[in-house]
Amino acid sequence: AAAPTTPLARVTIVGSGYVGLNTGAVLAYLGHPVVMVDRDAERVAALQAGEAVIYEQGLSELLAQTHAQLSFTTQVQEAVAGAQVVIIAVGTPATASGDADTRAVEQAAQEIAGGLQEGQRCVVVVKSTVPIGTNRRVSSVIDRVLQRRQVRAQVHYASNPEFLREGMALRDTLYPDRVVIGSDDPEALTTLRQLYQPILEQTFAPPAGLERPEHKPLPALMSTDATSAEMVKYASNAFLAVKISFINEVALLCEKVGADVSEVARGMGMDIRIGAGFLQAGVGWGGSCFPKDVLALQAVAAEYGYSLPIVQAADMVNRRQRVHMVERLQDVLKVLRGRQVAVLGLTFKPGTNDLRESPGLELAQLLLRRGAHVRAHDPVALDAARTLYPDLEIDWAASAEEALRGADAALLTTAWPEYLHLDWAVLTRLMRTRVVLDGRNALPGDLLRQDGVTYMGVGR
Ligand code: NAD
Repeated sequence: AAAPTTPLARVTIVGSGYVGLNTGAVLAYLGHPVVMVDRDAERVAALQAGEAVIYEQGLSELLAQTHAQLSFTTQVQEAVAGAQVVIIAVGTPATASGDADTRAVEQAAQEIAGGLQEGQRCVVVVKSTVPIGTNRRVSSVIDRVLQRRQVRAQVHYASNPEFLREGMALRDTLYPDRVVIGSDDPEALTTLRQLYQPILEQTFAPPAGLERPEHKPLPALMSTDATSAEMVKYASNAFLAVKISFINEVALLCEKVGADVSEVARGMGMDIRIGAGFLQAGVGWGGSCFPKDVLALQAVAAEYGYSLPIVQAADMVNRRQRVHMVERLQDVLKVLRGRQVAVLGLTFKPGTNDLRESPGLELAQLLLRRGAHVRAHDPVALDAARTLYPDLEIDWAASAEEALRGADAALLTTAWPEYLHLDWAVLTRLMRTRVVLDGRNALPGDLLRQDGVTYMGVGR
């Protein structure tokens, strides 16, 4: 069980997606009573029935373990009444023009304001990734509705951006590098300090399988103004996207000069000013955050008549990287039209079932456009992909083996452990031609080459 904490009266989380659900499970585990809200009634029913809804290591177990502390509802207003903290964790996808769509945040704010009661003291926290000024907007929306309802509640506001990584979401929530709180309201800060106290001081007993990483320092609490907090989130994601694009840019030069980008990255990463993280060359970044946040930050800049050439270039390099992967296959196969290519991995990284901005699906589409047949597989997101993209002319393979059988080439797009543990020397014998493009530099290339496979990595 968790170590004792001073539980808050009630924490309500609006939005039970990747961020909301992981945050809710952890806060419940730390001893706070948590009410999870989602407008998607099917999702709420599934959660009530004990289904984790999203794929994240340890989440089903933690939800089962905390069920006495956690409830699920579609009713924002009821969930907000009596809450001491209300966290907004709804989605903020990109609009067609690239700026973040904050309509769900706005709607959540309206509904929260409709549920606050006379005399209620409450901190409203924006955890969704939102453009500059959204926290201010949330507070003005709520204050306006309260005025109209003639309800006097003491509402305090804070921005509290989220940095969890899918695939590591619970670990990142329990053991974050930092907790950023943007607010000029001391009451908000005090309450959020209480909310996160067990995490900040690491006073809880770790849930089974989610032990504290060795040598991990205590999380820093960074308190700042709301605008800077909003900016910290976007700037962090843009920086990480730049870092990946940078190593991918170097990787393609490595291919030309005959260097090995893994070795180059290893050498670079030993410099603590650079750091070893996010220097893996590959198929380029994707997923639900980097692409949309990179666009949203550029949209913010444009609003101020400013441009972000470095961020823009990261985006361009990322697109070029995808095309390069296809051209690498074309270099070997010469003709792509009519070829059968196995695409292994549809999620943007292992450990999640998130298919948003999937590099695997983008590559599959590029290959289809060049006339190739694509047989795709993913260990967790295959059914979801089939349902989401019924019009894509992809053959969905029930196993990696089925995808590889008779293929002219294989493209590894996600480094799922299931794929890394395959006996590639044996399985590639099922292929028509044993051509493997390892888009994650994750397979034993030398061994495969010795066995006669035409093996290609990225940047080596
Ligand atoms: P998600 O799409 O998985 O979840 C959002 C949920 O909110 C959905 O279930 C949706 O039905 C619900 N919702 C939308 N409007 C609602 C409303 N008005 N009332 C109640 N429920 C509502 O999104 P996510 O990946 O959890 O991301 C949420 C936010 O956190 C985004 O702003 C995202 O940028 C940010 N973020 C995401 C990650 C990540 O790894 N996924 C990491 C850091 C930050």
